Amino acid sequence: MTNLPIAAVPRSGMPDTFGRFASDLRVSVTDRCNLRCTYCMPAEGLPWRSKPDLLTDEEMLRIVAVFVGLGVRQVRLTGGEPLLHRSLVELVVGIAAINPRPLIAMTTNGVGLDRLAEPLARAGLDRVNVSLDTIDQQEFFTLTRRDRLADVEKGLKAAASAGLTPVKVNAVAMRGVNNHSAADVLQWCLDRDYELRFIEQMPLDAQHEWQRDVMVTAEEIRTQLSVRFTLTPLPEAARGSAPAELFLVDGGPATVGIVASVSAPFCAACDRVRLTADGQVRNCLFAKGEVDLRGPLRDGATDAELAHLIQGEMWRKARGHGIGKPDFVQPDRPMSAIGG
Ligand code: SAM
Repeated sequence: MTNLPIAAVPRSGMPDTFGRFASDLRVSVTDRCNLRCTYCMPAEGLPWRSKPDLLTDEEMLRIVAVFVGLGVRQVRLTGGEPLLHRSLVELVVGIAAINPRPLIAMTTNGVGLDRLAEPLARAGLDRVNVSLDTIDQQEFFTLTRRDRLADVEKGLKAAASAGLTPVKVNAVAMRGVNNHSAADVLQWCLDRDYELRFIEQMPLDAQHEWQRDVMVTAEEIRTQLSVRFTLTPLPEAARGSAPAELFLVDGGPATVGIVASVSAPFCAACDRVRLTADGQVRNCLFAKGEVDLRGPLRDGATDAELAHLIQGEMWRKARGHGIGKPDFVQPDRPMSAIGG
């Protein structure tokens, strides 16, 4: 793995032993989801955590404030499906009141966003990424096992009207399902002024069925898009710690991103840390361990004690995710229970 030039490494946040600083906190506000994306969950869903296992909003806000005290500057709400969290708007209000106020983002499947985009924006939500892998109704159904494409489209429109711009769209390509319609998704996003980025499928499915040789690679996506569009790579500096390789589409100004999470990992620039809905800190999607904050918090730990536990976990962050190495082990927690 190559080291980034010093100037590209963010300097605020929690340090690890490889000279990186984590300043982007992803908070999973629920492990529940209303879609059943094949690369994430089995058709029958998963046993959801019971309420006492989950952090309350008050507990979540206290932990987020401790992270902000340690240098976190962006909080991304995710899940599961964050829009299923009943008091999401109040949670955003609470995060926006933390000093210094972090940037507040959300990753969502967009179902229900038509009703919530406006209240969330008013509460303080700054940005939204909507996951949408295809704009073909049949492909959408095959991938998510639900017939909700029209709801996602409504959600995207509402996000734009609420000023949550630029609206970003995340897509995963699955071989034999939607890998041939990547250019259609890009055209659709260009027509609506949504910023699209493709992400390679990672070994984070609950079923543990991921196979490297079946995965649609970033290179394949680029080749596919290039049949219809002229893609001009933007210099790496334009990307900062963001994982997507960015391309100008047909000379710009529109861009498309392609995230080679597996084939060309961006671990050297990783500035992320995760808090699960049940109060565990994970220093990497693929971490072999995690540290519990819920227990100590409920047992009366001080903020300084919680901060100490978090910093210790960051110190254990590995150099890279290790996918493809002989000792790689897929985490027991699927993406939906970690927070994507
Ligand atoms: N439900 C929300 C959503 O759909 O955006 C938030 C949670 S979801 C786990 C977050 C993101 O993770 C989605 O964009 C989804 O496509 C992505 N994701 C889930 N499983 C994945 C996998 N195995 N590989 C790559 N991305 C995955």
